Amino acid sequence: MAIMPSTAPDPAHRAGPSRTILGQVRSQPTAVATLERALATGRVHHAYLFDGPDGVGKELAAFGLAQALVCEVRGSSPAAGAAPEACGECSACKRTSPREGHARPLHPDVVVLERGLYEPAQIGRRTPEAQELSIDQVRTLVLARAAFPPHEGRAKVFIVRRADELSISATNALLKTLEEPGKGTHFILLCSRPDTLLPTIRSRTLRVRFAPLPDTVVTELLVARGTAQETAGTLAALSGGSMATALALADPEESSKRQQFVEKALAAVESPDLGTGLELAEEAKKNKDVLEISLQALAIRLAEEARRTAANGDRHADVAAARYRLALSAAQELDANASPQLTVESMIVRMRSV
Ligand SMILES: [Zn+2]
Repeated sequence: MAIMPSTAPDPAHRAGPSRTILGQVRSQPTAVATLERALATGRVHHAYLFDGPDGVGKELAAFGLAQALVCEVRGSSPAAGAAPEACGECSACKRTSPREGHARPLHPDVVVLERGLYEPAQIGRRTPEAQELSIDQVRTLVLARAAFPPHEGRAKVFIVRRADELSISATNALLKTLEEPGKGTHFILLCSRPDTLLPTIRSRTLRVRFAPLPDTVVTELLVARGTAQETAGTLAALSGGSMATALALADPEESSKRQQFVEKALAAVESPDLGTGLELAEEAKKNKDVLEISLQALAIRLAEEARRTAANGDRHADVAAARYRLALSAAQELDANASPQLTVESMIVRMRSV
C-alpha cells in the first residue's frame, strides 16, 4: 500500500482499486508512492526517467501520472495538489486511458513518442525510422509545440517509449526542452537499459525505479487472461518478472516460430556434425527480436524433459538439466547485449559436449 500524506482526501475518494490508471499498477509500491507524493505536494518533476525491465508497469504508471496531470476534476481544485489522484471518470481521464489495439491515447495533451510509431510523412521524413527515434519526430511532436500551451489548458505530457532508441541528434534536440520545459509540460522517459542512455539525458531526468514483478503476480495476471494455472506458473518462473515476456511466451501465434527454433536447436545438439547448429546461429542474427524468447522456450522444453526423465529415474535427466541451464544462460547473455550468432553457436557447442 502506498504511503499517503496526511492531506489525503476522504478514503471513499480512493475506493475501487482500478478506477485510476495509477491504481492499476501492480507490485510497484516504491515507484507509485513516489509519484503519489509528487502529485499530493504539487511537486511533480518536469522530466522523469522510469527505469526497469519491460512489462513491469512503467508505461501504465506513465499514463497514470499523465492522467492525474490532465484530470479536469483534480485540475480544477483551488489548492495546488490538494487531490493526489486523478478522478478516473472525467472526459480527460477517460481519454488518457490506453486503448486496446492502439498505441496512443485520445487525449491531445498526452503525446507518445516511439521509434516507428508515426508514418514517415507525418513527421516530415521520407524513410521509416528503422533503427532510431529520429530528430524529425522530436521536432514535429515536441519542439513545434513547445511554445504553445496545452490544448485543454492543464498539462502537456510527453511519454517517450524505449528512450534508449533516441538518436544522438534527437537527444541533443530534446536537451534544452528537457531542462527547461514550459509551464505545465512534463516528460516521462521509459527505459529498460538506462546505462545505454546518454549521460546528458540521465542528468536531466529524475529516476524512478521499477522492479521485476513477483512470479505470483505474473501467474495471476496470466491466469486472468486465460492461461492454465500450471502453465502460467512455469511461464512466470521464466519471465524474469516481466509480463511482456510472459505474454510473449504464452502467445500461441508466436509459438510456432519458437517451436521451429526449439526443434532445430534440439536436432542441432544431436546431429553428428555442427552444420545445423551453424545454420541456426546464422538465422539467429536475422531473428534477434524473438531470439531471447525462443531461448526461453528451449529452456522450458529442456526443463520439462528433465522433470519427466527424472521421474523415471533416468540418467538422461542430468543431461537435460545441464542443457536447460545452458539455454537459460544464453538467454541472459543475449539480454546483456551479446551477439545473437555467437551466443547460439556457443550454446549449441556446449550442449553437444554435455
Ligand atoms: Zn479526471
